[in-house]
Amino acid sequence: MKKILFVDDEESIRLLYKEEFEENGYEVILASNGEAALEKFAQTSPDLIVIDIKMPGMDGLEVLKKIREQSKDVPVILCTAYGEYKQNLETWASDEYVVKSANLESLFNKVEELLAR
Ligand SMILES: [Mg+2]
Repeated sequence: MKKILFVDDEESIRLLYKEEFEENGYEVILASNGEAALEKFAQTSPDLIVIDIKMPGMDGLEVLKKIREQSKDVPVILCTAYGEYKQNLETWASDEYVVKSANLESLFNKVEELLAR
């Protein structure tokens, strides 16, 4: 079973990810902030990581940078409701960029695509 680490400060979104992805046969690990994400990354070695950009404290780009210091290979998808980050060059350190939506279809598609590589 493929393991995905989801990092998001909003509980309702974490629960949505958990429900939807578990239902589709993934093992789901949740983290509510950057520190917890780095800890869970080290403990569980997930197959893929989905990171919210906008979080209090360590933001998603900082989390991504720290994860990339430890692993160049683990696929990372950045999520945000804010289109402005599309212009930020740091997002190139991630494999994909997804605009947040209640409909998880595009996220599902990217996850499947990255895990099939
Ligand atoms: Mg957020």
